[in-house]
Amino acid sequence: MSATRKEGVYSRRFAASDAASSVVPPNDSPADSRFHNPAALRRASLVETTAKRSMMQEPVLVLNATYEPINVTAVRRAMVLLLKGVAQAEEMHNAEVHSAANAHRVPSVIRLLAYRHIPQQSRALSRKNILLRDRNTCQFCGRVFPSSELTLDHVVPRSRGGRSSWENLVACCYRCNNSKGDRTPEEAGFKLARRPRPFTLHTSRQLMRMIGHRDERWRKYLFY
Ligand SMILES: [Zn+2]
Repeated sequence: MSATRKEGVYSRRFAASDAASSVVPPNDSPADSRFHNPAALRRASLVETTAKRSMMQEPVLVLNATYEPINVTAVRRAMVLLLKGVAQAEEMHNAEVHSAANAHRVPSVIRLLAYRHIPQQSRALSRKNILLRDRNTCQFCGRVFPSSELTLDHVVPRSRGGRSSWENLVACCYRCNNSKGDRTPEEAGFKLARRPRPFTLHTSRQLMRMIGHRDERWRKYLFY
């Protein structure tokens, strides 16, 4: 899975002050020789900081109280929900996260304890979400690109009254975007890979499956 795709799905809104604070390997021992070697210690803490950061950003599937999958969040955010008593863990990783006083297993799937009504279309119209919907695929040439090599194309150009909407914006590589210019796809001899649509429940499920494909624990909630 590409880093860009991951980054698109769960945000990093949560500050370092969140409750859970350090990931420690299960067999970490204070007698470890690196504690007597400052350079090794610095290296080790750098490695641990990196491991901690990436573990805290691993995706966690969020279920509604009814077990319906509704979202994907990061471990950090999921742990806050657990500690606040808003959610309970349904599936766990083997890894542990340590806060000042306690050790916590890292969640893989959590469930909200109170039912939350999810509006049909709650996704904001944004570049990130358009690229997600289009799976980072240029909708004209059909090739997959990193996010940095994609732009958004107004199918009906703005100069011709095209709006910035889910139905009129698509992921597009710079090459196709340049050659299309200020023309409609028909005028430019281009064909859209798919008709652009707003995010639907179906799109969200597909994305959750893609994000969770490495985690067997998600399967039974996503039915595949
Ligand atoms: Zn293209």
